[in-house]
Amino acid sequence: MSETIFSKIIDREIPADIVYEDDQCLAFRDINPQAPVHFLVIPRKPIAKLSDADEGDKDLLGHLLLVAGQVAREQGLEDFRLNVNNGAGASQTVFHLHVHVLGGRPFSWPPG
Ligand code: 5GP
Repeated sequence: MSETIFSKIIDREIPADIVYEDDQCLAFRDINPQAPVHFLVIPRKPIAKLSDADEGDKDLLGHLLLVAGQVAREQGLEDFRLNVNNGAGASQTVFHLHVHVLGGRPFSWPPG
């Protein structure tokens, strides 16, 4: 996978407001927040998009969701939305898997 802005954040080549990290993943605030709280949870492993993950990534994917929920609670969120854009046609712009976590305002359904 080619290097992305997120691999540079992992490698500390560019700064980010990191709110959580462990040996498998990082969570940091989105530079262009779409809600009062908006952070991204990314694996250290460079998976370009969700549909590139395989059976061997099962524990990692579960971990990303657990961290998303845990950090959301730490950020004071009770209700929040998770979003994963998979592919350019679904508005993915950074090709390093990431889970958006948004909260602090009402959300409607269906999404735009
Ligand atoms: P996507 O559209 O790929 O699902 O989401 C990519 C997200 O990454 C966008 O919400 C965008 O604002 C965020 N983003 C892009 N570049 C940077 C950056 O350099 N730092 C941070 N913190 N977020 C970024």
